[in-house]
Amino acid sequence: MAPSAVTPTGIEPASALTAAAVSQKLNGSAPALRPLDASKLTFSRTTAPMTVPELDDPIIKTSSQGTDHMITCKWTDTSGWEAPELRPYGNLSLAPTASVLHYSTECFEGMKLYRGYDGKLRLFRPDANCKRMLISATRISLPAFDPEQLEILIKQLVAIDGEKWLPKSRPGHFLYLRPAMIGSGAGLGVGAPKEATLFVIAIFMPVIGSSPQGMKLLASRENEVRAWLNGTGYAKIGGNYGPTLMANSEAQSRGYDQILWLYGEDARVTEAGASNFFVIWRTREGKLQMITAPLGDKIILDGVTRRSILQLSRERLADGKSGLEAIEVVERNFTMGDVAEAISEGRMVEAFAAGTAYFVCPVSEINFKNQALSIPMAGGESGEYAAMIKQWLVNIMYGKEDHGFGIVVEEKNEL
Ligand SMILES: *Cc1c(COP(=O)(O)O)cnc(C)c1O
Repeated sequence: MAPSAVTPTGIEPASALTAAAVSQKLNGSAPALRPLDASKLTFSRTTAPMTVPELDDPIIKTSSQGTDHMITCKWTDTSGWEAPELRPYGNLSLAPTASVLHYSTECFEGMKLYRGYDGKLRLFRPDANCKRMLISATRISLPAFDPEQLEILIKQLVAIDGEKWLPKSRPGHFLYLRPAMIGSGAGLGVGAPKEATLFVIAIFMPVIGSSPQGMKLLASRENEVRAWLNGTGYAKIGGNYGPTLMANSEAQSRGYDQILWLYGEDARVTEAGASNFFVIWRTREGKLQMITAPLGDKIILDGVTRRSILQLSRERLADGKSGLEAIEVVERNFTMGDVAEAISEGRMVEAFAAGTAYFVCPVSEINFKNQALSIPMAGGESGEYAAMIKQWLVNIMYGKEDHGFGIVVEEKNEL
């Protein structure tokens, strides 16, 4: 396997250490274990097809309705990856001593399958999700794999379930795809998993985060930390999320949508819930700037949405040709003090959170130390930049703009 196939482009310094571990795992001198091989996929079609819910069915809100099939694949430290299986959606079976149940040996991805206005099914930069999953798996001592093979498996699942579960009659809708890997072997010993299970499911998810009032964020307190310098914030591993739920519940009970995670004594702004966070402000020198926290400290998750927004904004917003004033795009640390100052000096233009689940979500308020800081939303229900960026992405995802980020998936409902 060519190492270049797994070089995590765009995931540079934050995970350089993990990247080294990844290439060691893939190229090291371990006895030859079978690599993940999508061409060995076996198919067993469900004999009990489920009913596709209507779009207003309350089941959708539960994020628990799967499609007819899922992909699973087992790995052992003695023989490597077995043949992947496409099989009926259903429960997994685990020993009570399984590693994941005790030591959070789990990682996951979140992506969407989009039904285009042109009738085609698309994924958005699935290669980036698959590469990130390798980074996350490696961080939690789960086995390596060729990300391109995972991408093929994901496409196989959606090729088969897409036509029924995201029908052509639902243009502009999506299914949520959740590839995940767990340490599934029995045994309580605290050590790297000897067995793992990779799976991919497709789930109905409600459209979230698009309130016309904008999102209200509650800034984390000094005694609440999501991720830390040289920690695991950059990896999408289950262990990062459970500990945030307490703060999240408190935020919701106080009428906020998400926690804005701050870090350090200077209250650096990191992420909003499980989304990256952006502000657009005018500097004291009068320059219009889009700013988001950098990846280098291993605190921030390298979001595919984040990366795409940075790239498209650099390409399309640098010269004023978009119709909006030109902005400079910067990745660097900034603090709540900077944000509060920009607001009090009238330099704050807008703020938004961005990720696959919440998409591009305008922010109207941040509560910091019990003070409500208001963020402008010049376009009414959104800032103007967030609205434009969201439209670019929508156009790519749903086939209104032909762009390399949007990957068409061929449908083949025959097994
Ligand atoms: C998944 C996630 C994001 C968003 O990543 P996308 O690839 O854009 O979906 C941002 N922050 C955290 C903490 C996340 O878990």
